[in-house]
Amino acid sequence: MAGTLHFEPDDRCNAFITVCEEAPYGDGRLAGVAVAVKDNISTRGIQTTCGSRILQGYVPPFDAHVVTLLRAEGAAIVGKTNMDEFGMGTTTETSGFGPTLNPADRERVPGGSSGGSAAAVAAGLVPMALGTDTGGSIRCPAAFCGIVGLKPTYGRVSRYGLVAYANSLEQIGPMTRSVEDASLLLEVISRYDPRDSTSFDRPYTHQPSTDVRGLKIGLPQEYFGEGVDPRVAEVVKDAIGRLEDLGAETVPCSIPSMAYALAAYYVICTSEASSNLARFDGVRYGPPVDARKNWHEAFREIRGANFGPEVRRRIMLGTFALSAGYYGRYYAKAQVARRNVEKDIERVLASVDIIAGPTMPTVAFRLGEKTDPLSMYLSDILTVPANLAGVPAISVPCGTVDGLPVGLQLIGRRFADEQVIDAAYAYEEAAA
Ligand code: GLN
Repeated sequence: MAGTLHFEPDDRCNAFITVCEEAPYGDGRLAGVAVAVKDNISTRGIQTTCGSRILQGYVPPFDAHVVTLLRAEGAAIVGKTNMDEFGMGTTTETSGFGPTLNPADRERVPGGSSGGSAAAVAAGLVPMALGTDTGGSIRCPAAFCGIVGLKPTYGRVSRYGLVAYANSLEQIGPMTRSVEDASLLLEVISRYDPRDSTSFDRPYTHQPSTDVRGLKIGLPQEYFGEGVDPRVAEVVKDAIGRLEDLGAETVPCSIPSMAYALAAYYVICTSEASSNLARFDGVRYGPPVDARKNWHEAFREIRGANFGPEVRRRIMLGTFALSAGYYGRYYAKAQVARRNVEKDIERVLASVDIIAGPTMPTVAFRLGEKTDPLSMYLSDILTVPANLAGVPAISVPCGTVDGLPVGLQLIGRRFADEQVIDAAYAYEEAAA
C-alpha cells in the first residue's frame, strides 16, 4: 500500500452518494489518482446502491473487474456517484438520493444516468470517473456537463460486478476532462475477463494521435434534422469543420432504421430490466422484509416502497413486452429493428470511418422540466443507436449554446475505439 488519500469534496451538486474520506491507493499508472465510481459498479467494502433505496446499506463482498483493475494501477477509489435509479433515466432525477445538479448551471440537470460521475469531474472534485452507458448514460451527461465520455465497443470492458440493467446493451467507460485521460482510463479497464461471457480478449493499448488526414466522416441526416435544436446542430457542424481543416473528409449519409431505434431500445431495455430486477426481493439485499408476511405480500410491499416510479414503470412495461401473447408483437419485433439498426450502421461504416453528429438534441434541461416519460425517452434518440449496434462512441465538448455545453459525438466500427479516440483527440487539440 502506497498511502491514503484524504478526500473531502465540496459537493454542492450532490454528485456523490457515498464519499470515502480515507481512500487507500497503491503504486501504478494511476498511483494516488482520485477516481469516482458510478454507484452501480460493485466495490468491496463500499456501499453500492444503484441510486435506489432498495439497495441502501448494501455493501458488496467483492470488486467489479474494472475496480480490481483500477486498484491494481494504484487508483484511490474516493466515492460512489449519484445516478438515475438503476440507470433508468436521462437526468439523474430518478435517483432515490435526490437529483445531481449541473456544475455549469445548478438549476439544470447534469444529464444521466451517470450524472454524478459527470458532475464530479466537471466540478473538479476528481480528475476521472467511471460511468456506464446502456442507451447514452455516459455520453449524455458528458455532453451536458462539458466533459469527455466514452462508451467502448460492447465486450471490450468486462461487466463483471456491474449491477445489470440491460446486459445486451451496456458497457462501463471513462468520463474525464481530456481525451488523453479517457484513453489512459480505457487502457486500464479494458482487460479480458472470463467471468463475463461477453468479454473479448481485445485489450485497448493506444497512444492517441492527432493525424486525421484522409479520415472519412459520415454525417447522417437523422442527426441534424427534426427534433435537433438547430443551434446545437450549428455548433456541432462547426466542430466537424475543424476536423475537415485537419484533412478529414465529410460525406452525407443516412440511417433510415433510426425511425425505429428508440422504440426498439425501450422494449429491449425494459424487457431485460424486468428480468434483472426480479432479484431485488428484500430478502437478499437492502431493507429487510417483514418475515411474518407471506412471500407475495412481502415482495409487493418491499418493492412498492423502495423502487421509484420510473423503475416500477419499466418493470411493468418489460414484463408486458415479454408476456405470452405479446412477446412476438413487441420483444421479437424489437430484436428485428435492432438488427436493422446494426446493419444500417455497418453499411455506413463500410464506406466511412466515423459517424459524427451531436450527442444530444439539446443542451441540458432545467430541473423538473421533463415531466412526461415519453419526452424524456425522446432525448435519447442520438445515443441509443451505438448501443443497439454495440459500436464505440465518444462525446467530446465542442462549444456552447446560451453558455451551456454541447457535445460532439463520434461513432466508430466495432473494436475501432482507437480511431474514435484519435478523431476526438484531433478535434480537442485543434480547438484548444
Ligand atoms: N436514458 C436511457 C434510459 O433511460 C439510457 C440510460 C443508460 O444508458 N443507463 O434507459
